[in-house]
Amino acid sequence: MTGKVYLVGSGPGGLSLLTFRAREVIEEADVILYDQLPGEEIIASLPAAAEKIDVGKRGGCHTMKQEDIESLMVRFASAGKNVVRLKGGDPFVFGRGGEEMETLRAAGIPVEAVPGITSGIAVPESVGIPVTHRDFASSVTFITGHESEKEASSIDWAWLAKTPGTIVIYMGVKNIPQISSRLIENGMSSSTKVAVIENGFRENQRVTCVTLDKLPEAAVQVGFKAPAIVVIGDVVSLYRG
Ligand code: SAH
Repeated sequence: MTGKVYLVGSGPGGLSLLTFRAREVIEEADVILYDQLPGEEIIASLPAAAEKIDVGKRGGCHTMKQEDIESLMVRFASAGKNVVRLKGGDPFVFGRGGEEMETLRAAGIPVEAVPGITSGIAVPESVGIPVTHRDFASSVTFITGHESEKEASSIDWAWLAKTPGTIVIYMGVKNIPQISSRLIENGMSSSTKVAVIENGFRENQRVTCVTLDKLPEAAVQVGFKAPAIVVIGDVVSLYRG
């Protein structure tokens, strides 16, 4: 009999923000494929009985290729195992969970996605920044920072720079200078407030608030490290350090 694959969101960090459903499928898993994003507390709590594979690290620091992770899932499930693919935040928000679901479907393997609390909302929230607020932002746009390095970006920066509301950037650390200049070039005010929140929900959490034009300078001075969420917009004024 074929096993089932659960694409599970761990939430932004810590056991208290893991859902009951996530805990339930983790307890019943034969195999758990995880990376480091869920954080130490959750990884340390994974059941002893399950086979646990760190797919984020291999032989030191090389990342397992996405296609290899997907074939592992297919292989284990085809052998009748129940598999949990544990991901930080929500599995379908910049987590490649959608692609994994497609591969599993194509292989005829039953798949269930278990939602998690996404870091783009929870990390700002944990430092008092609401992503929407009646006085400051009636919309919020979630983007990946990876896109800013591409020539033909699929992000409409001109639209983004002119649209009122909050911008939340995942995976933005590497491209902070480009993000700042793309937005300013396209007409966003250089005095727009920005918060960079590194390591949300962890002991080494750090928050940096600057204006958009000072962001590249701050990147050099502070030396931002992933994982970090970048929040841009008036809601940042609600941050109290
Ligand atoms: N599926 C995840 C996002 C995966 S992309 C989710 O829904 O949250 C990885 C990015 O998530 C990181 O580069 C960072 O931008 C963000 N991220 C995840 N956990 C974080 C944390 N604890 N603190 C800050 N950023 C985090």
